[in-house]
Amino acid sequence: MADKRDYYEVLGVPKDASADQIKSAYRKLAMKWHPDRNPDNPEAKAKFQEASEAYEVLSNPEKRQRYDQFGHEGVNFGPGGFDFSRDFSHGADFRDIFETLFGGGGGFGDMFGGMFGGGGRRRHADPNGPEPGEDMTMTLEIDFDEAIFGSQRTMELTLPEQCPECGGTGAARGAKRVTCPTCHGNGQVIAGGGFFQIRQTCPKCGGSGTVVEKPCSKCRGSGQVRSPRSISLRIPRGVDTGSRLRLSGKGAGGLRGGPPGDLYVVLNVRPSDIFQREELDLYVDVPVSPVLAALGGDVEIPTPSGIATAHLGSGTPNGKLLRLRGKGVPDLRGGQTGDLIARVVFEVPTRLTTKQRGMFEDLSKSLDSSNFPESQRFASKVKVFFQHKEKLGG
Ligand SMILES: [Zn+2]
Ligand SMILES: [Zn+2]
Repeated sequence: MADKRDYYEVLGVPKDASADQIKSAYRKLAMKWHPDRNPDNPEAKAKFQEASEAYEVLSNPEKRQRYDQFGHEGVNFGPGGFDFSRDFSHGADFRDIFETLFGGGGGFGDMFGGMFGGGGRRRHADPNGPEPGEDMTMTLEIDFDEAIFGSQRTMELTLPEQCPECGGTGAARGAKRVTCPTCHGNGQVIAGGGFFQIRQTCPKCGGSGTVVEKPCSKCRGSGQVRSPRSISLRIPRGVDTGSRLRLSGKGAGGLRGGPPGDLYVVLNVRPSDIFQREELDLYVDVPVSPVLAALGGDVEIPTPSGIATAHLGSGTPNGKLLRLRGKGVPDLRGGQTGDLIARVVFEVPTRLTTKQRGMFEDLSKSLDSSNFPESQRFASKVKVFFQHKEKLGG
């Protein structure tokens, strides 16, 4: 295999390029070399993968720093090179990847209208027949507790819809279809000049060979309008970042009576400042006084559904884990709910009053090695270590 090209060179950006410059450079290359647009073209596939690999590294501040410092060695992809399945592991096709990478926020869809229009299923569609609407993907940020308990959301979206005036035909009421003046009905035009002449789908009629005599005034002949609408979404219990919800028929409207596409909502769950989530289990650190742990007593443990009380036996050690079964995250697939695991974290008292300090001093004097069996075991291990070292003459 030939030496790898420099990632900055691959993307055509300077070494000090901003994140936006990198993203924009990658987007251009990805659109150019996208496998959907270059079927059966191994060179395009290789270019696309090379650009994707460069983007994967340079878009990640940590990887980019390693790459800047150590070059390709610092971000070794190992034998076989860049692995698409690893990073884009949700069974997504390329289209989803792009919409996930770039499509967040409100303006999704627009960006890729040009890129994907004419590709995929549209390529084979009858240009005068019904055409199904595009599937759309958007990301939605939700709160931690919404992911656990589920919620109901209403989203305000603006998506392309079938024009209600002309029913998606693009023709004004009563207007006829006439032969396309640009391609004279061929559906194709010759582009370029000199030696290279390329046949292209006619941009005027989209290959159908006909255009409407008088376009619909509402959609200006496109057959689609962008209109705001509210979509209600039920978020089920137990979703996580990366969960993808499908809203059948809520994507872009079809053309000429075609059915609408689907809307996919990819969730992004805001982290909690109390709980750490690990699949279906939740972890929480609970500050506990070492005095209470020595004496034994009750501690309050927050769970998503409320405060639970747990009893600590006398002599509870720092770091002890308490498992509260079924107090974690519900399983989206209907399996068993996860657990909540609370960890005892000693908080040593500070800002002692003179009186308290005196009590601690009295306590300290009264304690002896028998109160600290762990310290005794530790001391004897240390002793054995040094005896052994002495024998070796170290
Ligand atoms: Zn219309
Ligand atoms: Zn034409």
